[in-house]
Amino acid sequence: MRLLKSMLMYSLLFSASMIAQDYFSEDVSQPELKDGFLEDRSGNLSFEQIEILDYLTDKGYDPDQLHFDGGEVVYEGDMRLSVVALNLEMKLEKCQGDILKQRKHDNLVTDVENLKVKFDWDVPSRWREATETAINAFNSLEGSSVHFSVVTTEQDITIKFDHLWTTNAALGELPLGGSPGSRVRINRFVEGGFNSNQRVYIMAHELGHTIGMRHTDSQDGVHVEGTEATDDYSVFNTKVGSWNGFSSGDVIALSSMYPQD
Ligand SMILES: [Zn+2]
Repeated sequence: MRLLKSMLMYSLLFSASMIAQDYFSEDVSQPELKDGFLEDRSGNLSFEQIEILDYLTDKGYDPDQLHFDGGEVVYEGDMRLSVVALNLEMKLEKCQGDILKQRKHDNLVTDVENLKVKFDWDVPSRWREATETAINAFNSLEGSSVHFSVVTTEQDITIKFDHLWTTNAALGELPLGGSPGSRVRINRFVEGGFNSNQRVYIMAHELGHTIGMRHTDSQDGVHVEGTEATDDYSVFNTKVGSWNGFSSGDVIALSSMYPQD
């Protein structure tokens, strides 16, 4: 039950507008999403959608940051929840009554010591290289047991080169049922706008999502003890930065979430 309680979530990253230096600090995705939500609210939400909105609001999600997009709920401009997975979770909770309410939501990966990453055939070498640099950074983190390796078969996580109909650079899945998020999708439409340092930042960020890292500059998720409330150098901020390694806060978070034995 505990496994099934985890939600299938995706996290999106970075608006294409941020490619242009002038707009770097401007998050254009936020107002778009709010408008979308208001439109949904004033229009005709299906019964299923209303149930989902109420359910997530009860869970502490900010209803102003929720918006439907096809089979997914977009949250905070940057994270996605599958409607199918949400419906399953809601059904389970109905069956379980109050029992599940006493449990802490568990979003982490059970075993991070050998996370196998595979590239789809069409992922360009510039993104493979960026991913490998990010992987090396994770693998050399002090005090953390997180270890990724690149494989060609039996992968846990697949890196895809997709047509994403969003302005975001990439999308990483969050863990589900103790397993890492199974996909990181790079958006072919906008990926050309990022330089090599930004590509590493993006891949480190997205791989972090696959093991349950949430956004440092967000109120969403559980604050990791021992880290500052804000951290401009964090790789897990929502805006694309230039890769300069993990911040000290990132290291504290990763080593406390996944300590070395
Ligand atoms: Zn993100």
